[in-house]
Amino acid sequence: MKTTDIMARLQQKYPLEKEYLQAVQEVLESIEDVYNQHPEFEKAKIVERIVEPDRIFTFRVTWTDDNGEVQTNTGYRIQFNSAIGPYKGGLRFHKAVTPSMLKFLGFEQTFKNALTTLPMGGAKGGSDFDPVGKSNDEIMRFCQAFMLELWNCIGPDQDIPAGDVGVGGREIGYLYGMYKKLAREYNTGVLTGKGGTWGGSILRPEATGFGALYFTQHLLEKAGKSIVGKRVSLSGFGNVAWGAATKARELGAKVVAISGPDGVCEIPDGITPEMIDYMLVMRASNRNKVQDMAVKFPTLCKFTEGKKSWSVPVDIALPCAFQNELSEEDAKELKANGCWCCCEVSNMGCQPGAIHFFQHNGVLFAPGKAVNAGGVATSGLEMTQNAEHISWSGAEVDEKLHFIMKSIHEQCVKYGTQPDGSIDYVKGANIAGFMKVATAMLEQGII
Ligand code: GLU
Repeated sequence: MKTTDIMARLQQKYPLEKEYLQAVQEVLESIEDVYNQHPEFEKAKIVERIVEPDRIFTFRVTWTDDNGEVQTNTGYRIQFNSAIGPYKGGLRFHKAVTPSMLKFLGFEQTFKNALTTLPMGGAKGGSDFDPVGKSNDEIMRFCQAFMLELWNCIGPDQDIPAGDVGVGGREIGYLYGMYKKLAREYNTGVLTGKGGTWGGSILRPEATGFGALYFTQHLLEKAGKSIVGKRVSLSGFGNVAWGAATKARELGAKVVAISGPDGVCEIPDGITPEMIDYMLVMRASNRNKVQDMAVKFPTLCKFTEGKKSWSVPVDIALPCAFQNELSEEDAKELKANGCWCCCEVSNMGCQPGAIHFFQHNGVLFAPGKAVNAGGVATSGLEMTQNAEHISWSGAEVDEKLHFIMKSIHEQCVKYGTQPDGSIDYVKGANIAGFMKVATAMLEQGII
């Protein structure tokens, strides 16, 4: 069956799963040509199988809030594909979480993990629990209740969750504490993103942002450009934006905008180390307001309500927040204001119209599954350290992360170079990831 027919069938079968269909469509468009050149893939129905998760766990999570009121949420774990290794991927706590969102993320994760060079399959999970405005105790009680159901579905050699939007080091701690109590397993391998004194890898918190900047450096180098002195805008102020801002500054770029759901903070002279530290305080407060930055640093920072980072003139845009956060209109505004590069750090951060616009209007673009893979790659490095019962130095982890990001860039170039010499990073990342997973599935038979 042709990839277009497979897509049409999925649209019929899951008409309401918008994000999932969007993610699948992008991959199927990219791989169409290579798929047609491999009749053995078609015979084994690789595409029909690769787009469906292996299994989905859905469970009720009941917990008590600070007022003593009983609250109920829904929890999920989607084990998407295990062809190249155990299930691996983050947990997202956000009020908008649906099975469609987690299916898109699990699907993306499968290809992203394949790009890392490490043996990890794809998974994703989470809950429609909204951390905004919750106290620390409420977060703890929710995490414990969530793990009460999840623990049976995961294991250090089976499925290894980590963080994502709304799940950082604090949440991983509470989840891990409960897992140990229930499973009576005291090895450290079942979750990644752990604390430094109980099995976490040095640099895991920074890794997504750092890796994204290493990838951006390779992309710029290939295009004969440098990041030094360039103006950069980021969206969000969570863990990923924090790591990206830290490394961008370190490499000599100037981060002139960060944003939140409430608006944008412009920082004309560039973000300072104190402001970067304050991002962590803002994240821990669970207020979800970027305006807090302008209140704390009124002379350095100007807040505008309702605006995005994409309205600020920059050279390089780095979406670091949420899927579909950058629309075609935003892409046009960025370009009109002089932007010439967009590296997607969030998962599927750019809408299809924005990607199309960038690619056809001379703006360098690379997709999240390549750019942000440093996070899960460093989770893979954490798993290795846990399995060996050792911890590597920061320098060792950083060197491996560098190597992995370089190799991901090379894979994109290998599979994405077009007849005119330009590089289609979307195609490159999708084909490279697909070839690895598809070949593994083929070799393991019809299962
Ligand atoms: N949530 C991150 C991602 O989207 C990290 C997953 C992990 O470390 O397992 O890749």
